[in-house]
Amino acid sequence: MSAGWIAVAGLGPGDEALVTPEVTAALAEATDVVGYIPYVARVHPRAGLVLHASDNRVELDRAALALDLAEQGRRVVIVSSGDPGVFAMASALFEALEARPEQQDTDIRVLPGITAMLAAAARAGAPLGHDFCAINLSDNLKPFAEVERRLRHAVRGGFAMAFYNPRSRARPHQFGRVLEILREDCEAERLILFARAVSTPEEEITCLPLAEATVEMADMRTVVIVGTAATRRVGRWVYTPRSVPA
Ligand code: SAH
Repeated sequence: MSAGWIAVAGLGPGDEALVTPEVTAALAEATDVVGYIPYVARVHPRAGLVLHASDNRVELDRAALALDLAEQGRRVVIVSSGDPGVFAMASALFEALEARPEQQDTDIRVLPGITAMLAAAARAGAPLGHDFCAINLSDNLKPFAEVERRLRHAVRGGFAMAFYNPRSRARPHQFGRVLEILREDCEAERLILFARAVSTPEEEITCLPLAEATVEMADMRTVVIVGTAATRRVGRWVYTPRSVPA
C-alpha cells in the first residue's frame, strides 16, 4: 500500500489566479478532497478524484475522515477558503491528531493561501500597512463576551483590525454591538472598509467613516477592516502609514 498523506490547502479568496501553484499541484495528485460544501465545489472534478463535501460546523468530523483516509493510503487534500490556518481547517486537523497518538507521524503539509483580509487590503490600497490584528466575530467557538474583550483591547492598543465572520443569520445583532463598542473609543471619522466577496464577480468594496457604517453593510461574505487613527485616503486609495510618531 502506498503511503497516504494529507495536505491542508488554502484556495484563496475566490479567483483562480489567487490559488498557489503548490495547491494546484497537490490537488492534481490527490485521490480525495475533503471540505465544506462551497469550498469543495471550487475543485475541478476529474476521474479518480473522490469529493467529500460536508456541511458547516463539522470540522472535527471532517478532520477525522481525512486521517482515516490517509491511514488507508489515500492522498487527501483538505480545502479551506483563504488560508487554512486562519479560522479554518488546519487547527481542526491538529486537534483531531491530538486524539490519535498512533497517527502522529502521518505525512501532513499545510499549504498557505491568500487570506480574505490580505486580498481585501490589496484591493483598497494598504489599510493594514502598520500593526494589525484579526478577530473572528463568530461566537461558535468562543463566548461573545470574549469577542468584546479582545475588540476593546485591540482598539485601545491602536491596531488596525480585520473582522472575519462579521455577521450571520444566526446572530444578526452582534455586529451592531461591535459598531457600538468601536464608537465608544474611535473618532467618528475613523475609516472602516467593508469588502464583500473579494476577487469574485460579486465583489463590492465600500470605505466610509465609522459614523456612517451600518449593520447591513456586512454579511457572511464580508471581511471588515477598521483602520487606525492614522489611516487615511489618498486619491481613490486608503492606506495606513508605516510610521507612528514618537
Ligand atoms: N480561512 C478563510 C477564513 C474563513 S472564515 C480565510 O483565510 O480567508 C469565513 C470568513 O472569511 C467570512 O465570513 C468572511 O469574513 C471572510 N471571507 C472569506 N472569503 C472572503 C472573500 N472572498 N471576501 C471577503 N471576505 C471573505
